[in-house]
Amino acid sequence: PLGMCESALEFARIARENDYHNFVFSMKASNPKVMIEAYRLLVARLDAEGEDWNYPIHLGVTEAGDGEDGRIKSAIGIGSLLADGIGDTIRVSLTEDAIHEVPVAQAMARPFNELVPAPAETGSEQLVASYDPFSYERRASLPLTIMGHELGGEKTVRVFTTQERWNALAHKIAGMGDFKPEIIFEKSGVVEIDPRDEAAVSGLNGRTEPTLVTVKDGLELEVIHAFRELAFRVDPRHAILLKDTLLPPAGDTDFLEALLPAARNIGSLLCDGIGDAVLVRGETAPGQSLRLAYNILQAAGTRIFKTDYVACPSCGRTLFNLQHTTQKIRAATGHLKGVRIAVMGCIVNGPGEMADADFGYVGGAPNKINLYVGKTAVKFNIPEAEAVERLIDLIREHGKWVDAPEPATAEV
Ligand code: SF4
Repeated sequence: PLGMCESALEFARIARENDYHNFVFSMKASNPKVMIEAYRLLVARLDAEGEDWNYPIHLGVTEAGDGEDGRIKSAIGIGSLLADGIGDTIRVSLTEDAIHEVPVAQAMARPFNELVPAPAETGSEQLVASYDPFSYERRASLPLTIMGHELGGEKTVRVFTTQERWNALAHKIAGMGDFKPEIIFEKSGVVEIDPRDEAAVSGLNGRTEPTLVTVKDGLELEVIHAFRELAFRVDPRHAILLKDTLLPPAGDTDFLEALLPAARNIGSLLCDGIGDAVLVRGETAPGQSLRLAYNILQAAGTRIFKTDYVACPSCGRTLFNLQHTTQKIRAATGHLKGVRIAVMGCIVNGPGEMADADFGYVGGAPNKINLYVGKTAVKFNIPEAEAVERLIDLIREHGKWVDAPEPATAEV
């Protein structure tokens, strides 16, 4: 992030020396954590440069991929910054027909366009962030065990569900593979408080044993800020359960309308190191809400349980059918936990945008593919028809291949 920021400022200085001011800043990255830190750093630097450095900011997560994962990654990166008050224009980049990007971007921006800014409070206590906004470090809670699952400290971030949803899924939990619920909210002993309630906070901070704590439902507080306040006020030894909403819906919800705020609220907090467990209730379908919870953890880089894909959105330079190929690669490699694969349309910008992918599948010439290990090209001009097989060979050669398990029978 620091390098991205310095480089942007260097170009801005050249433009300003030539009295050119008609530009916007953009600090896109494919990793939401990196992207959030880079934009925050940039805004801090622009503030420090002076009032006449208030250029507009364009937000985007590059190579976010497709489907649910692409939307979640975009919502974490773009949504977190919009919630921080940063950003004037946005672009959602999906490896899908460009027309699908627009409704996602509109839904993402809508709550912020409709927001009425609160009047500045005077005389109230200034909260200092409990985290470093410019570099990631997980909040140092103490570990505890709930329903046989360890959480807190450096332990795995756990996935909660409600008793009602657990009951609805009970007959198929054994077959849910990587999307199983782990802890029942009502049986967890979690303490729910209003983070502004001083008596409740000091009661909790008086406890010596580590306790799981969350923000209570029904408060008229914006979710991200409510949990930031909780993390600020509650002693760090107490682990935090993150919720996607404080006002869970009673009836059915539109999946995109549930996905975007869930990814933004939970993802933003996880990227700031806050959160030891998560509960998604904005999506009312029990299985789908669990899949969403796990996918948010994966996109935030918090709990890697499947293959991670970086795929460019395609453009005039793309040298093969990117959507079709990405789906083919997903189908062949989707069981490789923790392996990061980049699918990029051209060698002009592709290799530079692959971030920290383990393997790259990049268009080298029309219908010819180059394969990469990290940032190094190792196979050249492979005919497209056999390139996915050669990619699998390469993954095998580097000891990252395992055979796919038998497909789970339960639907999620
Ligand atoms: S084809 Fe190349 S230039 Fe176009 S979006 Fe993909 S990586 Fe970027």
